[in-house]
Amino acid sequence: MAQAQDLRQAITSMAGRPGPLLSAYLSVNAEIPENQRRAYLVRLRDAMNDERVPKDLQQRIRDYTEEETHPGARTLAVFADEHGLFEIYRLQVAVPESVRWGDPYVAPLMLVLDEYEPYGAAVLDAERFRYFVVSPLSSAHGEEKMKANGFREVDLHPSELYPRGGGSTDLDPAGRKHQANVHSFYKELGELARDITFREDVQRLILAGPGERTAEFRRTLPNELQERVVAEEHLDLGAPEGKLLDRLEAVRERAEHEREKELLDEIRESGVRGLDETVAALQEENRVYHLATLWELEAEIRWCDNDQLAIRDASREECPFCGRNTRMRQLKDVLVDLATARGARLDFMLGENENTDTLRDEFGGLAGLTRF
Ligand SMILES: [Zn+2]
Repeated sequence: MAQAQDLRQAITSMAGRPGPLLSAYLSVNAEIPENQRRAYLVRLRDAMNDERVPKDLQQRIRDYTEEETHPGARTLAVFADEHGLFEIYRLQVAVPESVRWGDPYVAPLMLVLDEYEPYGAAVLDAERFRYFVVSPLSSAHGEEKMKANGFREVDLHPSELYPRGGGSTDLDPAGRKHQANVHSFYKELGELARDITFREDVQRLILAGPGERTAEFRRTLPNELQERVVAEEHLDLGAPEGKLLDRLEAVRERAEHEREKELLDEIRESGVRGLDETVAALQEENRVYHLATLWELEAEIRWCDNDQLAIRDASREECPFCGRNTRMRQLKDVLVDLATARGARLDFMLGENENTDTLRDEFGGLAGLTRF
């Protein structure tokens, strides 16, 4: 299973690579009706024909995909060319299906990376403490089984259960002893949670369980973990696991939406917006460190292959810097190339919601946070 670092590596090595090459994102999820009897093989063949992928290369790709009766992924990402490039990534997420022969198409990998930043969910009640990592990209550790919505449970063995008993009030000796036990119990869980959080590279943490448990747990969390808590969800853990995971997924989506909204608010305060201003700040002034753009953006921009630079004047068929011929490219591809070369994070926002409305109507589809 592809890991986040593999995808980063793939983006860096594919972006800016001279084509033509094949970039294919193929839905191979056996659980959806469209894929019954491996219908994706037919879609792939048709799409490769439409794109006029050279026959020999088509054959190699088909040999590989037909051989694999159980791809064990939701999406296969394939990059291949006629000079020996042949790389396959298995993703546990659905990405828009596409097949392209030409410039490398890595925007969907970027989408996967930022859309699915790993979330942790610490779920606790009096009986159990469980920790889920919500990331469709597998971690470098462990081989835990993937559950619904890309949740993976990390095995945990707290040394003891929630302390029982205690006195009638906090003031009698038995009550105080009980309080101390509870405190050290949560302290131990907090340290356990911290270790997994760091190991799994989780930046955003959800706490879930009955209100009084999550509140106690949160109070005893190590500081560096408290900063990462983005949501506290009060729920009864008696429900079936599938229900629990659905709730956690809803919380994650809400938190992601909130994160995007905060990014746009920050850009409104002190950022750049619009194609021209943002590309200038990113490319020429090198002061953009976080970009936001619409996944649905269909714009094109002129590009010089020799300089690896966008030419903001769309009428310049000759490059103003080196005099060679320029060409039109998909803006999305150019943004991936520029963001990768300049170390900026690129957030694709998709769907119809308040954030994509803001980005489209107020910021012209592209905006960025600037360092100065
Ligand atoms: Zn040039």
